[in-house]
Amino acid sequence: MSCIFCQIVKGEIPAQIVYKDEDLVAFKDINPQSPVHILIIPRRHITNLTELDEADTELAGKMILLAGKLAREMDIAESGYRLVINSGREGGQVVNHLHLHLLGGRQLGGQLG
Ligand code: IMP
Repeated sequence: MSCIFCQIVKGEIPAQIVYKDEDLVAFKDINPQSPVHILIIPRRHITNLTELDEADTELAGKMILLAGKLAREMDIAESGYRLVINSGREGGQVVNHLHLHLLGGRQLGGQLG
């Protein structure tokens, strides 16, 4: 079954890409929950957080560091922002390709679900 985020990585479907390198792609969420809502994904298909292993330590670190860099670039670093990874069905994951949500640009609520 084709993965929509793999298709974005390959350029097969359009996305508003804000960053890419040899390991990661970041693009605007199609249904933004806040003025800034970016998804940071690994190029490689990894289903969810549970599939990461020790060999992916650097990759996971890069995802988080990129979130901080993009937050600075999008001018939300000072006001604050939130990172979210939904993993698995009850975690609310809908797209089964690991992604880190970067949310900001408004006052976010205090509830975590
Ligand atoms: P999840 O609930 O953590 O799996 O979040 C999936 C996210 O992917 C949602 O916020 C969707 O709005 C977003 N999304 C789904 N399809 C696309 C797309 O084609 N481009 C950009 N974002 C998408």
